[in-house]
Amino acid sequence: MSHDSRTAKVRYWINPRVQAMRAYSVPESSGLIKLDAMENPYSWPEDIKQRWLANISGVEVNRYPDPDATSLKNKMREVLDIPDNLSIMLGNGSDELILLVALALSGSDRKFLAPVPGFVMYEAITAATGAEFKSVSLDPDDFSLDRDLMSAAIKQHKPAIIFLAYPNNPTGNLFDEDTIVEVVRNAPGLVVMDEAYNIFSEKSFIDRLEEFDNCILMRTFSKSGLAGLRLGYLLGPEEWINEFEKIRLPYNINSLSQATMSFILENYKLLVEQATSIRVSRDKLFSQLSAIEGIYAWPSMANFILFRVLENDSKSVFENLKKQGILIKDLDNYHSSLSNCLRVTVGTEDENTAFIQALLNSL
Ligand SMILES: *Cc1c(COP(=O)(O)O)cnc(C)c1O
Repeated sequence: MSHDSRTAKVRYWINPRVQAMRAYSVPESSGLIKLDAMENPYSWPEDIKQRWLANISGVEVNRYPDPDATSLKNKMREVLDIPDNLSIMLGNGSDELILLVALALSGSDRKFLAPVPGFVMYEAITAATGAEFKSVSLDPDDFSLDRDLMSAAIKQHKPAIIFLAYPNNPTGNLFDEDTIVEVVRNAPGLVVMDEAYNIFSEKSFIDRLEEFDNCILMRTFSKSGLAGLRLGYLLGPEEWINEFEKIRLPYNINSLSQATMSFILENYKLLVEQATSIRVSRDKLFSQLSAIEGIYAWPSMANFILFRVLENDSKSVFENLKKQGILIKDLDNYHSSLSNCLRVTVGTEDENTAFIQALLNSL
């Protein structure tokens, strides 16, 4: 068969929406200090690693996993203090949960809204499900959420979903709590509070969900230390969660993930301690960045810092860092308010020191 005839079929049959998309690309990172993806830089102490291996050696991978992950969810409730009135739904990373929520509320006449610059998956997944993505620009100076712009956009678009990342990625700030409450009250549809960085910000809407009929919360273990496991969760009233459960694939959380997460929850203190030291390192890294002439850094409540190079272009700084063995994220072409901006994930003390040194060499 010729290349042309295949291309013709693809052009005809693949949904134009999908043809217009670009696959999510992940940069090659082998041999580099990886400060681009908000991963936790710490591994586990040897004794915990050994106990974990012993624990998962009992997993019967010839059997399907527990479709409801009941024992894992019970452990989560206990360790993470999840109130009984909230249902839990697990996803293969919170990316999968964004997709499932979007599928459940999508429709050709539907609009999903999020502040920008924000988490890129909201827009990508909206496009994939056939809804229309609408954005509201954050304040270009401090990335705060503007009440009036939000309420005008809500009135105009009547969004089926509003995504709010709390704190926001890639800017690292927490939106004002009263503004968020006003958004939830004004929203005709569902508001998804994405608390991916909750372990670092220690701020949550979990205790306020009961006040609303249109709000759910989403979290993930990726940023707190288990990015490779792919485990995210939704928390919300059962009326909403039960609908999303209908389109979740039955065995989306594999046996090894369930066993590993149950195990690590019994040692959850370890992740909390790691997060605490990441926060301390973040604040130190922020002061170091702020002290560099030619750099403007934004305060962050997450495990990364957004900064702008003032007298250089971010692309050349990014490439220069890479030559010195350090991978961060260049956000220059993400949004007009991120011109010459870069984002660095907080690493170990040694990694952060190497980054600052390499950055000084690059300016
Ligand atoms: C990283 C991130 C996610 C996705 O995390 P998963 O690895 O898919 O669980 C979701 N929302 C925000 C804001 C993020 O930064």
